[in-house]
Amino acid sequence: MALIVQKFGGTSVGTVERIQQVAAKVKKFRENGDDIVVVVSAMSGETNRLIDLAKQVSDDQPVPRELDVMVSTGEQVTIALLAMALIKIGVPAVSYTGNQVRILTDSAHNKARILQIDDQKLRADLKAGRVVVVAGFQGVDEHGNITTLGRGGSDTTGVALAAALKADECQIYTDVDGVYTTDPRVVSQAQRLEKITFEEMLEMASLGSKVLQIRSVEFAGKYNVPLRVLHSFQEGPGTLITLDEEESMEQPIISGIAFNRDEAKLTIRGVPDIPGVAFKILGPISAANIEVDMIVQNVSHDNTTDFTFTVHRNDYNNALAVLENTARELGAREVIGDTKIAKVSIVGVGMRSHAGVASRMFEALAKENINIQMISTSEIKVSVVIEEKYLELAVRALHTAFELDAPARQGD
Ligand code: ADP
Ligand code: ASP
Ligand code: MG
Repeated sequence: MALIVQKFGGTSVGTVERIQQVAAKVKKFRENGDDIVVVVSAMSGETNRLIDLAKQVSDDQPVPRELDVMVSTGEQVTIALLAMALIKIGVPAVSYTGNQVRILTDSAHNKARILQIDDQKLRADLKAGRVVVVAGFQGVDEHGNITTLGRGGSDTTGVALAAALKADECQIYTDVDGVYTTDPRVVSQAQRLEKITFEEMLEMASLGSKVLQIRSVEFAGKYNVPLRVLHSFQEGPGTLITLDEEESMEQPIISGIAFNRDEAKLTIRGVPDIPGVAFKILGPISAANIEVDMIVQNVSHDNTTDFTFTVHRNDYNNALAVLENTARELGAREVIGDTKIAKVSIVGVGMRSHAGVASRMFEALAKENINIQMISTSEIKVSVVIEEKYLELAVRALHTAFELDAPARQGD
């Protein structure tokens, strides 16, 4: 008998029929003798709808605490519906909000971190033979305020519950049948991976693959939670996220390609090239609570230099205002910005033992005449910033160049 935490995403609970299908699936697992804790997201589109409503009354800037009170209702509806559907087919079930379980988080509204989970109630219910249905994405802080964990946060609820309960597996059910070499909605030749390491999955998630929320992967790695991504309504092995890095001849150099359209680029030109200038430029950006991703400083020319960095697109206007102010103070020549950029990254632990991976990437992009604006590398990834309009072409070209394309099926 195993204890399994199963998380179902928004599209998997997007209609009453699908919720009934999920209930039937959970029933099957129960009939195999497994104990099941289910985590569900809001019905697809619901979180966006709620955020939209909040923005309408708040000039686009909803108060974070109240936004959490609002968006957490999406998941509250699904847990109740799923518990009802389970009870209706003869499976004893009970639903809990994050607050009722007591998923304790910090007070960072809209992006809270889980600090502690009280597993008593859940264990008692499981012992009494009930399926426990828990609302994803939400928790409560020490003052009793409702908090949420950031977009895609139900994945993290699932993994955190699995860690707290020492579950045998955490299964993330979604609308694709596993983790692919790249987003299968963008590259039709993408292939499902049997396995991917936590380290690679963390990079893929951080670099834009939204199939798992970054924090869920961090959590799973930290607490060594066996984690699998599967299709909600199709049979199949899915993808196992594992610790081990098998050394084999066939191990691909690149496991996957991630991309991200959420960034924007800012350049300050003609700043005096003196010690402390990077701090003078980025200090005020960080003081404005804006996270910086890539940074490039050019060689100096006539004792001045150019400095470029990227931020989340949502922070672009604020960052621009801060940078223009800095430019005036430093006597810089000008500030320029670009929101139509995209970041494409190749990820793979195989890179560690292979030279020339970056140049192979640059060659593939050059062949398509795609200009690289910025580059950043780490041990297991290379990222480039390019013009947004070339994003899909770049991902496809890299997918082919690194031999990730699925073999053509007959008739293709
Ligand atoms: P859910 O609502 O179930 O949480 P998400 O939309 O958050 O589902 O995540 C699943 C989606 O992630 C897929 O539909 C797919 O388009 C996207 N995706 C991005 N990168 C990948 C990848 N490498 N492998 C699989 N899916 C990916
Ligand atoms: N409902 C939340 C969202 O749409 C959380 C989740 O689905 O994981 O982001
Ligand atoms: Mg998701």
